Amino acid sequence: MQKRISWQKAIVEKIIDETPRAKTYRLRFDDRPAFRSGQHYDVRLTAPDGYQAQRSYSIASAPELEGVIELTIEMIENGEVSPFFHEVVQVGDEIEMRGPIGGPFTWASSGNRPLLLLAGGSGIVPLMSMLRHRSATGSSVRAALIYSARTENDVIFRDEITTFHKQDPKLHSAITLTRETNPDWTGERGRVRSQLIEDALAFLKETPQVFACGSDGFVETVASLALAAGVPFQSIRTERFGPPGS
Ligand SMILES: Cc1cc2nc3c(=O)[nH]c(=O)nc-3n(C[C@H](O)[C@H](O)[C@H](O)COP(=O)(O)OP(=O)(O)OC[C@H]3O[C@@H](n4cnc5c(N)ncnc54)[C@H](O)[C@@H]3O)c2cc1C
Repeated sequence: MQKRISWQKAIVEKIIDETPRAKTYRLRFDDRPAFRSGQHYDVRLTAPDGYQAQRSYSIASAPELEGVIELTIEMIENGEVSPFFHEVVQVGDEIEMRGPIGGPFTWASSGNRPLLLLAGGSGIVPLMSMLRHRSATGSSVRAALIYSARTENDVIFRDEITTFHKQDPKLHSAITLTRETNPDWTGERGRVRSQLIEDALAFLKETPQVFACGSDGFVETVASLALAAGVPFQSIRTERFGPPGS
């Protein structure tokens, strides 16, 4: 039988504005459990009348960041929990959390297969933990990130991804924007297409371990593209954040 994970309290130590719609919450625990990149926490909010709402949020930070975890939460305008984080939660608040949770959708730098990371929107969050873990441990595994966002303003962790890309010849990254109207954007445009996956596979040289994360529709599409490009089914792991969308 699986061990029951109990609820713990963590203190909001820092809030970082990532994009107009995404904020990172650094949470400090008295005794932070070990975790693997790709895992998530459940967060539980309790209203004064006892009503509770619970949602899952992936860990954005690397396991190497001591004593804390970071969650990056995108604002869903008509949502229950994400607006609470964006509009109400402040530094010093106590949050009820349960985790870390998740088994197959995890990566440890002790692995020696290349990594293909496919992110749609806030699906970048657990994949960023993997990239940070890879960097913190000095892993020499080849990695490729394909990240689809709506507009330039929606690209979370853009500076850090660019820095990783520039500093690490074993990392390839491509950001593709589905709704950007600015003609100055010189990166990729449109939804993830087979050419982007094929370019990434050519860079990785060997069959990678694939992690795909985002909306249901995004994950379906990119997993199918990876299969069509010859990646075996067993090598593809997926995490779905919610309803269809880009
Ligand atoms: C394992 C796991 C990890 C997750 N990690 C993250 C994370 O790192 N960052 C993050 O921002 N979210 C993450 N999510 C999504 C998160 O759990 C919530 O679903 C999301 O924050 C919406 O919750 P809400 O209470 O604000 O909206 P809700 O009250 O649940 O929903 C309000 C409306 O928005 C729609 N909706 C719900 N979720 C989404 C969505 N993701 N995109 C578009 N529309 C939506 C609903 O269908 C509904 O119509 C994760 C989900 C899972 C299952």
